[in-house]
Amino acid sequence: MNRGGGYTLSRLEEKLSDLKGKFPFLDVGCLGKSFAGREISLVGIGEGKKSVLLVGAHHGMEWITTGLLLRYAEEYCRAVSEKRKISGVDADRIYETRRVFLVPMLNPDGVELQINGADPQNPLVETLSETCGGDFSHWQANGRGVDLNHNYNAGFEEYKSKEPALGIFGGGPTRFSGEFPESEPETAALCAFIRREEPRLLLALHTQGEEIYADYNGYIPPRGGALAARMAALSGYRVARPEEAACYGGLKDWFVSEFRRPGFTLECGKGVNPLPVSQEAAVYASIRGILLSFPTFI
Ligand SMILES: [Zn+2]
Repeated sequence: MNRGGGYTLSRLEEKLSDLKGKFPFLDVGCLGKSFAGREISLVGIGEGKKSVLLVGAHHGMEWITTGLLLRYAEEYCRAVSEKRKISGVDADRIYETRRVFLVPMLNPDGVELQINGADPQNPLVETLSETCGGDFSHWQANGRGVDLNHNYNAGFEEYKSKEPALGIFGGGPTRFSGEFPESEPETAALCAFIRREEPRLLLALHTQGEEIYADYNGYIPPRGGALAARMAALSGYRVARPEEAACYGGLKDWFVSEFRRPGFTLECGKGVNPLPVSQEAAVYASIRGILLSFPTFI
């Protein structure tokens, strides 16, 4: 059916092979596999040693972030191939001295459930269906009912102790943190990659709210505050702190506390999730300055 015309994994793969055809220097690989066995795409652009990492679609309803990262990849690659400037810097110079890693869709199983409903490829589909009354339209979690952005090792136990009060007693559409940190194949693969590559900066794209989060429990690594302010100036978004329940176990939380390097959550666009495909161009326009400048921040 494809509810809302969103980005499923097959559309992502099509778009990546199209981009690879246009820009052969784009590296397209695989980060690992999802719970239901789907490949998680990993894209690399550039030849530098210093890297940044941008991650989209932690959450099923937030597939528009995949489209945003693909627009960015295309615009950046085009600027490199046409030897144009980005934010006043030669794009091919950025290409030679930086490496940009993109994980456009960390949670392909969750996106599949949200867009297409009950997923025959998922061995747990009947159990998952019971947790949401057969309606997957608000599905945020992965293919095992774990909310990936609560599954990282930062404040995991604190959040776990709050789950009962939030009405969370196990896997379901949203906010269940899992049995232990990195229990899910998607988060385990991403964390292993981060430990190996040690990116200098991290940006995790979510929707929505036009906000930038830069701290973990009040801690902001060196340069994190200044960069957040710069990102706010480039986008018109505001630097804020997430609501209480969203404060723990996120990718940015783990990255910031583990590596003491700047990491950000970018809440793209404004409206009701899932933001419709019709808003993709406008939301991209709002964060384009942040994305294009991001590799120049290191
Ligand atoms: Zn999200």
